This record gives sequence, structure tokens and C-alpha cells, in this order.
Amino acid sequence: MTDRHPKRLLGKVVVVTGAARGQGAAEAKALTREGARVITTDVTKAPGCRRLDVTSGTDWAELTADLREAYGQVHGLVNNAGVTWRARLGDVRPEDFDRVHAVNVTGPLLGMQYLAPLMPPGSSIVNVGSSAALTAHYPVAYTASKWALRGLSKTATLELGPRGIRVNTIHPGYIDTEMTASAAPAFREANIRETPLGRTGSVDEVTPLVVFLLSDESSFITGAEIPIDGGLTAHGGVKSVSDSLRSEAP
Ligand code: NAD
Repeated sequence: MTDRHPKRLLGKVVVVTGAARGQGAAEAKALTREGARVITTDVTKAPGCRRLDVTSGTDWAELTADLREAYGQVHGLVNNAGVTWRARLGDVRPEDFDRVHAVNVTGPLLGMQYLAPLMPPGSSIVNVGSSAALTAHYPVAYTASKWALRGLSKTATLELGPRGIRVNTIHPGYIDTEMTASAAPAFREANIRETPLGRTGSVDEVTPLVVFLLSDESSFITGAEIPIDGGLTAHGGVKSVSDSLRSEAP
């Protein structure tokens, strides 16, 4: 009898950063369900999670050495770890700006630098951007870091493509996690107002895209940027115009 649902990531070794909670934890579960051997990592302690601060070259070097010894190869990396900082342009301190950049940009850079040498052709990297990377989102350090991550991803596409390694970026909109729970209620409400689907997203709506991008089903997709945001970034900020005229005659 044939298996109607073959596991799509069987035999693949995949590293997920920031996997102690939120999207990273959900992604790790989904990747495991698809047959991957997932190495979950995070700066905070969590059961089954290896401690790895994405800003630390030493941590990455140790992980790389252990993976080389244990598996010889790595087939996937999800650069998911990220932090926000909601200071506005006039208030943000350079040290906070740098700290956010270190986690959201230098972290993925180090991840790719250390793990790419272990990646055979057919491997796949997913960088987790944000709708903030496509818009003028007010938390300036976060927004600038996620725009920088787009540039990093594009360059990585170019550098790693000849070795058969794919690099794609996903841009979640408002997803219910501890990160968004830490914002004011007005933030959630305003996001829902601006989202054509009229609601927030869940971590389980993000994971299928990550599974797809790590699987061989997306073998010719690289350098792509895929919003997963209920349409938040589709309307260029003019949803309110459409909404206010909806009841008027055309
Ligand atoms: P979260 O805060 O729930 O989880 C982030 C995880 O990253 C935490 O477990 C945290 O400990 C870890 N982390 C932070 N700094 C780290 C470091 N230096 N090294 C290793 N791990 C570190 O947030 P989330 O919503 O699950 O966010 C996951 C990713 O999605 C982030 O990159 C975030 O910017 C992005 N994102 C989130 C949303 C959203 O609405 N939740 C929207 C767009 C993008």
C-alpha cells in the first residue's frame, strides 16, 4: 500500500533559531511532523532547545562543529529569532538600534555563514522578515533591521545559488505570539482594521509556508519574498479609502 501523505522533509537536518516559543516553536513541530531532524535553538532556556544566541559567533561555531560530527550535513535553516523595540524615530537610542540589528540581521548573517558550508545542493534557507520590511512601520529599529534583512537575503540568494542553496524570505503580518501580545491593544486593533481578511493570523498559518520552502516542492524558488499577512501589505496603506467609500455609489 502506498503512503498517501509521504513525509516531505524525511532525512533532512534543519536548524530553527528562536524556537523556544511563538512561530519558531510551531515551525519546529511542523518540520518534525514532516520527517525532518530538527535542531531547535534559542537564547532562552526551553525544554529540548539548545542554547544559541544568534548574535554569538562562538555559539554558531560550536553548533556547526556538533552538527558536522553528528550528521555531516545540514539541509535547512530557519532564521526565525527576532526582537522588536517599539521606540519611535525621535526616541530610539543608538544602542537599542544596534541591539535589534544584531539579533535581526547579524544573527541571520552568522547563521548562513556558519551553516552554508555544511549544506549540500538542494538545501534551503528561510529568513523571517516582517510586514515591517515592506512598509513604514513606526518602530524604527525593528523596521530598519527587517529592511536590512531583505538586502541580506537577496545577496545570499546570489552567493549561494551557484551551490544549489535556496534563500527565501517570508513576511508575516500580525501573528498572535508573545511578541505581539506585548504591544498595546490599540496596535492589534489597528492591524486588524488594515488587514483585508479582517483578523490576525496564527502561528499554524505560517508553518505550512516554511515547510513548503524547506521542501523539494519549492526546488526552483529562490530569492522570493512572500507576505503571509492577510493582505496587510497589499493595499499600500489605502484600505481606509476603500472602506470609507464602500457604501457609496461607484
Ligand atoms: P517571539 O518573541 O514569541 O519569539 C521570538 C523568539 O526569539 C523567542 O523565543 C526569543 O527568546 C528568541 N530570541 C530573541 N533573541 C534571540 C537571540 N539573540 N538568539 C536566539 N534567540 C533569540 O516572537 P515571534 O512572533 O514568534 O517572532 C518570530 C519571528 O517572526 C521574529 O523574527 C519576528 O520578528 C517575526 N515576526 C513576527 C510577527 C508577529 O506578528 N508575531 C510579525 C512579523 C514578523
